[in-house]
Amino acid sequence: MDGAFNENDLSHIVDADKAHVWHHLMQHKAFETSDPRIILEGKGMRVWDQNGKEYLDAVSGGVWTVNVGYGRESIAKAVYDQLMKLCYFAQSAGSVPGALFSEKLISKMPGMSRVYYTNSGSEANEKAFKMVRQIAHKKYGGKKHKILFRDRDYHGGTLATMSAGGQEERVAQYGPLAPGFVKVPHCMEYRAQWDLTGEAYGQRAADAIEEVILAEGPDTVGALCLEPVTAGGGVITPPPGYWERVQEICKKYDVLLHIDEVVCGIGRTGTWFGYQQYGIKPDFVTMAKGVASGYAAIACMVTTEEVFDMFKDDATDPMNYFRDISTFGGCTAGPAAALENMRIIEDENLLDNCTAMGERMMGNLEALMEKHKVVGDVRGKGLFLGAELVADRGTKEAVDEKLVGQVVAECGAQGVLIGATNRSIPGLNNVLCFSPALIATADDIDLITDTVDRALTKVFG
Ligand code: PMP
Repeated sequence: MDGAFNENDLSHIVDADKAHVWHHLMQHKAFETSDPRIILEGKGMRVWDQNGKEYLDAVSGGVWTVNVGYGRESIAKAVYDQLMKLCYFAQSAGSVPGALFSEKLISKMPGMSRVYYTNSGSEANEKAFKMVRQIAHKKYGGKKHKILFRDRDYHGGTLATMSAGGQEERVAQYGPLAPGFVKVPHCMEYRAQWDLTGEAYGQRAADAIEEVILAEGPDTVGALCLEPVTAGGGVITPPPGYWERVQEICKKYDVLLHIDEVVCGIGRTGTWFGYQQYGIKPDFVTMAKGVASGYAAIACMVTTEEVFDMFKDDATDPMNYFRDISTFGGCTAGPAAALENMRIIEDENLLDNCTAMGERMMGNLEALMEKHKVVGDVRGKGLFLGAELVADRGTKEAVDEKLVGQVVAECGAQGVLIGATNRSIPGLNNVLCFSPALIATADDIDLITDTVDRALTKVFG
């Protein structure tokens, strides 16, 4: 191959992809007998593949990302203009979009005040972990260094974030993991661990965190890292009263609360952040996917002035600052795109649309649950929803994962892209996932759920 590629020669592109690209999250044997789907173009909520097939994208770029939809000229222009002015300068200096986006972002996050730019959600989480460790060294002689994470939550693919990874199936083969990370139970009422319901369940699930803190020793626990609504672990919404109690526990034991908003952040649940649905006051908030809707790579770790102040109490000590860098974090295209992304969400009232369309979709999913016995539970917040498929509603035994795959494939064949949680632990990885862009119309929502209805009928009768 001489490298003279013709980007219009689609069969060549498929061959090049199959020969050289190692796809994320895919078992590659599949491509020995079939071609990968190559997405060529997107507009609004529609995308087109190499065969010219059109899809309604009900998963915002596959993983909850393209919140304002495809083909936004104003974001592309903001990025272009910024790159022509200044493509890059290290974040030890400032930049115009970096300053303006942080100001805009903080205006939506009362109580928070400092933005640390990174490239990915994993990296943003690592920055918070590092800060917790450094605070432990500075304030507590290294003791209060443990970071609690929750069963089923996901915080990234790096070794430290996997050490805080609650999805066994994504972690099991990568040990030894980093020390000092401790698991707490999940809070999913549908697969209850305690014989309680509603608020009593929420209280109990939160109390389980207190039990872990007490068992580990409160003087060793520095932070608790949780998703507001668990995403890939099964679209798990918190039971009532859960977050109030979690907040109380963190306060009681001086445990910093780190909310992972990589999925929920920037409008996905109908408020700017998922934690704002539950009245939580976090110490760290991390975000990535929807921050610039995928138009540029940007992620942020946001914290309070109180945390920031802990790193500047002795300016003469050369170790007394956050000695960290992310070369491309805050690289100018990211905040330029993110600023325009936020303007679109505000000007087009997309938070309200997300809430309204989320309610419509939840209603549609509840109707599917009435019609199809295989739908055991529907959950979600805003346009972040899931439908759990079970072989038996009484025992809640999960359906065979192949059947979940067939539903996803059948929806794709019918022109709607939906997702499913990683399917390898029976019982919690049988959830169809939906995360349409925040621009979705009632017709889009109905088309998604009508297609799922037909696919369920086809696969389960
Ligand atoms: N946290 C959550 C809740 C996520 O869903 C993800 C990605 N799926 C991450 C962190 C990691 O983000 P990234 O892939 O950008 O590193």
